[in-house]
Amino acid sequence: MEGSFSESIRLANRLRELTDEQLVILERVDEACQELLLPEFEHYIAHQYNPETHRVLKKYNLMGLTVSPKYGGVGADSLTWALALERYGQLGLGVVTFVDVHCLLASLAIQQWGSDYLKERYLTRAAKGEVVLAYGLTEPEAGSEPTSLKTSYEEEDGGYVLNGTKYLISNGSVADSLIIFAYPKGKKEEMSAFLVDSKSEGFSVAMHLEEKIGLFTSDTAMLELSNCKVPKENVLGQLGKGLHVAYSALLNGRIGIGSGCVGIIEDCLNSVTERVKSRVQHGKLIGKHQLVQRHLANIAMNLEMARWPTYFAAVEKTRLDANPADLELRNRVDLQSAIAKRVASRLAYESADSAVQVFGGFGYSLLSPVARHLCDARVARIYEGTDEIMELKIASLILGKGFEAYS
Ligand SMILES: Cc1cc2nc3c(=O)[nH]c(=O)nc-3n(C[C@H](O)[C@H](O)[C@H](O)COP(=O)(O)OP(=O)(O)OC[C@H]3O[C@@H](n4cnc5c(N)ncnc54)[C@H](O)[C@@H]3O)c2cc1C
Repeated sequence: MEGSFSESIRLANRLRELTDEQLVILERVDEACQELLLPEFEHYIAHQYNPETHRVLKKYNLMGLTVSPKYGGVGADSLTWALALERYGQLGLGVVTFVDVHCLLASLAIQQWGSDYLKERYLTRAAKGEVVLAYGLTEPEAGSEPTSLKTSYEEEDGGYVLNGTKYLISNGSVADSLIIFAYPKGKKEEMSAFLVDSKSEGFSVAMHLEEKIGLFTSDTAMLELSNCKVPKENVLGQLGKGLHVAYSALLNGRIGIGSGCVGIIEDCLNSVTERVKSRVQHGKLIGKHQLVQRHLANIAMNLEMARWPTYFAAVEKTRLDANPADLELRNRVDLQSAIAKRVASRLAYESADSAVQVFGGFGYSLLSPVARHLCDARVARIYEGTDEIMELKIASLILGKGFEAYS
């Protein structure tokens, strides 16, 4: 097993002991990562979506990482899936994004909110890796403020018809099924969540976002719903209660992104440690220059500052899973998840920047792992809630009702 990953598992065990079953899952994650390392690098350099992520995760039976064995999944608890995302983060945020969207945002939402029919039809197939899932909340004019979205639905012939545009959707053009959020036509309340098949009449991929500044191995697409027909039974959760689905999914997703960022910092630390012990300038290893040591010390400190709030949020989430009706606990976990994401994403970006500095000119090339992390980590401060939105959320959860500075 990769050295810093086994150290992470040892440290996480201090917060909550992982069972033998959970440890076996993490060994499989590590094996899958070893197989994915080269294809992920090759696709990144070619600026291409990496379809190997799906193939390899399916091969190692990891597409159902977060799904209960009752629905054919692996049954990783929150701390275990957080550690898995940390290991994926060492490879890069492209792998993290694929897993975060399929396993956390979408699969967990179906598991939490779906009817028996939806679980049978979608979750079991998603867990086997037969279908890929995506999560479509953002629109061209609704990002930080999802309540301003324009996608609409209306009842027709015993089902629903959806119209609108979804923007910046990860896995958007490779997904077989997507969770799509929409308002009743002509209304700005009672948002609902729907499971939409990409093969449905009226669903199309309008554009691939190719000109990103990183995250090349992840698919990002704009989607068009034009009189897109959705069967009645594909409403996820209660009709009119889609915001609950959206926000509970993001609570999970943010722990996942925070964990992926811990993995980025780990990989930066490993890469820098190796580099400073082999590169000689001014007659000695650069690791013996004190100003270079400062960079390494900063990355090591960042790792610990990112690790613990993330593990803590994951452990608290396992408590919430056991007590889903405890609203006070839910608010606390929401707060911890926002803190984990805000702290870890910022520190991942700063660590990658320091690592690039230590690598010098080679660090400015995408052939170096640290440059790829620098390009990728930037997006972790934007998607699933920007730095600013996380800060507002943290403040309002501490201050309580009446202090929400955003909707
Ligand atoms: C690569 C990528 C993948 C993505 N994947 C998905 C996905 O799978 N599904 C999905 O639904 N979305 C996805 N997104 C969208 C992402 O969640 C949004 O980009 C993000 O929520 C920010 O929205 P925005 O881009 O519209 O920025 P805006 O909301 O326009 O924000 C612009 C700036 O204004 C600030 N701001 C906005 N409101 C406030 C406020 N009240 N107070 C202070 N500052 C504020 C923001 O923090 C930001 O700095 C993805 C985005 C990217 C880049």
